[in-house]
Amino acid sequence: MADVPVIIAGGGPVGLTLAMDLGWRGVPSLLFEERIAAEPPNPKCNTTNARSMEHFRRLGCADRLRAAGLPADHPTNVVYVTRINGHLLGSLNLPASSMRRQDAGALDEGWPTPELQHRISQILVEPILHDHARTFGGVDIRRGWRVEGFSQHSGEVTVEAVEIARGRRKSYRSCYLVGCDGGRSTIRRQLGIELNGIDVIGATFQSISDQPN
Ligand SMILES: Cc1cc2nc3c(=O)[nH]c(=O)nc-3n(C[C@H](O)[C@H](O)[C@H](O)COP(=O)(O)OP(=O)(O)OC[C@H]3O[C@@H](n4cnc5c(N)ncnc54)[C@H](O)[C@@H]3O)c2cc1C
Repeated sequence: MADVPVIIAGGGPVGLTLAMDLGWRGVPSLLFEERIAAEPPNPKCNTTNARSMEHFRRLGCADRLRAAGLPADHPTNVVYVTRINGHLLGSLNLPASSMRRQDAGALDEGWPTPELQHRISQILVEPILHDHARTFGGVDIRRGWRVEGFSQHSGEVTVEAVEIARGRRKSYRSCYLVGCDGGRSTIRRQLGIELNGIDVIGATFQSISDQPN
């Protein structure tokens, strides 16, 4: 018999939102995320779109996300530069979110939604989604655990996970395993699904030691 109906590999925005959505529907889940709570993601998303904000409203955390993002009176301009103190390549002048419904020229001001897009870093989004997911009954989040692989049987999947700090390995049985483990997904690779597209576009983060002198 399965330990839990759904196992989720990866606790980025997608895995955490799935855990919340399943919790909202009364379906228990077990989520493994290899990063510990104190380890933020690399800088990624900075705009959460209207459709996502609508889901977060349904799931009950839209207000908390709004309170944590860019203040309503702060311009949301975008500049494209070669580096922070480098050359300006181009810019988009966008009004503050409080001006959105006031004909101020915002791209999204006429959108028929109660939740317009919101400027907030993924570094701030994830802890809010994590905390909110834990308010749903049946959501079990294990941080510092990596999914290493799985085997499929009739109507069931066995997931191999390791608690990274202690090297403790454990198997869990579930009806479904969902791979929310990002672009380098272990689950995708084991399923033999290839990544399509130009992977160098994903290289947005360089450590100091990688920088040319
Ligand atoms: C520079 C940049 C800017 C972006 N800007 C935006 C934006 O403005 N708006 C927007 O909507 N999107 C933006 N995106 C895209 C957005 O960041 C991604 O769509 C989003 O992160 C995808 O979420 P995810 O949960 O699928 O994957 P990820 O965020 O990649 O999360 C996957 C998680 O799985 C964990 N994991 C991986 N392997 C395992 C394993 N084996 N076991 C356990 N855990 C594992 C990882 O630690 C990670 O936390 C941007 C991306 C980049 C790179």
